Amino acid sequence: MSAYITDTIQYLKQSSPAQAEFYQATEEVLSTIKPLLDRNPKYQKNNIIQRVIEPERQILFRVAWLDDRGNVQVNKGYRIQFNSALGPYKGGLRFHPNVTAGTIKFLGFEQIFKNSLTGLAIGGAKGGSNFDPKGKSDAEIMRFCQSFMTEIFRHVGDTIDVPAGDIGVGGREIGYLYGQYKRLTGKYEGVLTGKGLNWGGSLVRTEATGYGAVYFAQNMLAERGASLEGKVCTVSGSGNVSIYTVEKLYQVGAKPVTVSDSNGMIYDERGIDLNLLKQVKEVERARLTRYAEERPGAVYTPVENYPAGRNGVWSVHCDAAFPSATQNEVSVEDAKELLKNGCICVAEGANMPSSPEAIDAFLASGIAYGPAKAANAGGVATSQLEMSQNASMLQWTFEEVDAKLKRIMEHIYRTASETAKEYGAPGNLVLGANIAGFRKVADAMIDQGVV
Ligand code: NDP
Repeated sequence: MSAYITDTIQYLKQSSPAQAEFYQATEEVLSTIKPLLDRNPKYQKNNIIQRVIEPERQILFRVAWLDDRGNVQVNKGYRIQFNSALGPYKGGLRFHPNVTAGTIKFLGFEQIFKNSLTGLAIGGAKGGSNFDPKGKSDAEIMRFCQSFMTEIFRHVGDTIDVPAGDIGVGGREIGYLYGQYKRLTGKYEGVLTGKGLNWGGSLVRTEATGYGAVYFAQNMLAERGASLEGKVCTVSGSGNVSIYTVEKLYQVGAKPVTVSDSNGMIYDERGIDLNLLKQVKEVERARLTRYAEERPGAVYTPVENYPAGRNGVWSVHCDAAFPSATQNEVSVEDAKELLKNGCICVAEGANMPSSPEAIDAFLASGIAYGPAKAANAGGVATSQLEMSQNASMLQWTFEEVDAKLKRIMEHIYRTASETAKEYGAPGNLVLGANIAGFRKVADAMIDQGVV
């Protein structure tokens, strides 16, 4: 790393203390773009690194709401508008008890380069709350969402900032947030994506991140003369991204055999029963123990029984792995186990699921490794397609949107792969995605002057 980069990371740690996940995300990007900086002194001359690690605006607020017993509850709310060089701010909202400012900053920082890679006109942002939706009634979720929107409605808009879902924020939450925005502003506009299909949503948005991760894996394997057909695949998580990764894996002839949640994992040797998974997770909003009760032969392992420091999902023999739950869910020991067991492909549906050491192990092995900001960009890309449809008051068919998603994932793969070759690191899609994503944002920032 150059002194410019190490000094900037040092400055970041001093000026934004106790944000470990944010440092991890910045170090991952900055450690790979040195060849670009070496060839182009203009980025250092314009101090782009120090500008790009500083969010343009951070909105931190109180979210007070009434629970069903009439008690006043208080949560922290965040909307971090990181970078608008390429377009209106865009990025999801996460509701999870572990959310801190550092979590939202890491996600927002990643989002800048992910959105750039899609080739679409969208800037980077992220938001959320330490609110825990688990165990809350529909009425409590609604009151929380209404209170959250009562603050952020003044900072968002269809050409300003367009939030979407993420962990803990799905169609139900987007509906409550949208209703409150409309009530406060009187505007029926595309201010959120992931909306219901009968009130402005796009077909394929629900499926997009999972489908996109599988399309990305197909692109990586095709260049190596391989495919997903007949392959055994492991998937972590059992939320939006995981369910539609499982669905698309079946459509391309692969066999997904695992899913998980924060309490444990399912190993289903015959292949995950997709209808049962949807019933348990989307309809009943139940835990995976319900899946095991209903599915003879499926083995449920609680997290307490995982080997120490390990995620049990990655001990299952597979040809391809799809981490789709959360950050740092693949340790270096997990990565070594996957490689030892013959895994040839990892496509990240979750954001930053692999630790830095796990990434190093994947890259050193030469397997097909698709980093999150490239492999999971299908979700945000389809959100942008939803914005386009809202702006033009059109609704495209499932086939039209899916075909566009497929083309975008191929474009992202080609861009990352060709950039890796251009910078002397063929096959290193971490470097390729980071340089390609960064370069476009940095050039736009230079064009737009010192702002
Ligand atoms: P959901 O809330 O729908 O599902 C999250 C899943 O991950 C659940 O099964 C959840 O289990 C599990 N999980 C969450 N936190 C943990 C944890 N700390 N340890 C173990 N398991 C955990 O979220 P999504 O599917 O939307 O998001 C999953 C990942 O994909 C996230 O990293 C998100 O940022 C990323 N992503 C999502 C996009 C989207 O379009 N939705 C777009 C791009 C990336 P439990 O129910 O027990 O909490």
